[in-house]
Amino acid sequence: MVCGLLGRTLGHSYSPQIHAKLGAYTYRLFEKEPDEICSFLKSNSFTGLNVTIPYKKAVIEYCDVLTPIAQRLGAVNTIVKKQDGTLLGHNSDYFGFKSMVFKSKLQVTGKKALVLGSGGASATAVAVLQDLGSHVIVISRSGENNYENIKSHSDAALIVNATPVGMYPNTEAAPVDLSLFPDLEGVLDLIYNPAHTSLLQAAEARGIVAENGLWMLVAQAKESAEYFTGKKISDESIKEIYNTLKFQMENILLIGMPGSGKSTIGKMVADMLSREFCDLDDEIVKYAGCSIPEIFENSGEEEFRNIETQVIYDICKKSGLVIATGGGCVTKERNYPLLHQNSTIVWLKRDIDTLPTEGRPLSQQTKLTQMYSVRKPLYDAFADITIENDGEATDAANRVIAAIKEDQLK
Ligand code: NAP
Repeated sequence: MVCGLLGRTLGHSYSPQIHAKLGAYTYRLFEKEPDEICSFLKSNSFTGLNVTIPYKKAVIEYCDVLTPIAQRLGAVNTIVKKQDGTLLGHNSDYFGFKSMVFKSKLQVTGKKALVLGSGGASATAVAVLQDLGSHVIVISRSGENNYENIKSHSDAALIVNATPVGMYPNTEAAPVDLSLFPDLEGVLDLIYNPAHTSLLQAAEARGIVAENGLWMLVAQAKESAEYFTGKKISDESIKEIYNTLKFQMENILLIGMPGSGKSTIGKMVADMLSREFCDLDDEIVKYAGCSIPEIFENSGEEEFRNIETQVIYDICKKSGLVIATGGGCVTKERNYPLLHQNSTIVWLKRDIDTLPTEGRPLSQQTKLTQMYSVRKPLYDAFADITIENDGEATDAANRVIAAIKEDQLK
């Protein structure tokens, strides 16, 4: 049985990884130009297909039968070739988004929901929310309800981002300013890279529900796999695959005082997980073309911090790395969203009496205790997890991995 994903440019897709856990079929990526779609769909190259940008509408004319939901949304993301060669078109994004709403535990019935964007994903979100009894308003750059008059919907309880704004690599962008919505109860962002978009970080800062699109991606794949195989798959598998992917996609980022073991433990964690290790101090040296003491000597601390932020900006939007940061990265507020966007932040805490100072410009100049009293509350505020590193390094590395897995299961 051969299934796969049909699209124009697929780049790095998580679908093969997800489908490998869902069924005993081969899953391939089929990159096709528009003039190849017709012959491809008539060929015997597949038994089941997922369809993505830009072909979700274009494939409809080749489907012999559409499920009611595909017909209603006017888009197909799942095709099954039946034994007689006819093609059934379905849309599993509906199930995927509905499952995401349920995961968020938001009560949407009777509430005002703003859906940003008017493309395919927006149509899915609108259909699901209407079926769940929400009062849905679509915000479109060119629509009657747009970003200029969005204030007239300040009573919204839910915002769904169905635009690409905030997606990798332009991760600092956000489609709306959440301060305009005092009654907001939650934000659902269909983007999953980065895990914490700027919009979701604003929601997290408000202490309201903030959910990214990874659950939807996995849930829609589960329903597609049921169509491919004709077999029911437990909803529990969504959670298992989601947790595995989330762990693999997010960076593990270590913060802590100079000499607290970030590089040593970071390298160990990377080896244990077969991940790439990245030391931001090394990246700063590469970026500046000279050593860190030389940057301090020639340009001063402020310039060093500016270079550090630039390097954090470049590196921390990537996925699946283990990252060791410089001890002072927490002293700049702007670094927090950049560090947090795609990482679980781990504070490696070590008794300051055991911290080395050699070759560390600021540790030599300032008394460590003084430095620690300033930074301690910042490490605390930035960290998702704290790990004591006063014993064996391997033990600390194992505890970092175990704590992240436990944290992600929450
Ligand atoms: P799409 O058809 O291209 O539609 C996106 C819509 O966003 C456009 O119709 C446009 O609406 C708006 N938009 C585009 N660029 C914008 C900009 N620079 N500023 C403001 N608005 C802009 O894309 P889609 O397939 O609906 O996907 C939308 C997002 O959902 C993407 O990020 C995609 O990755 C994500 N998605 C996730 C899943 C999942 O499983 N998690 C599934 C499907 C899609 P207006 O012109 O009306 O403003």
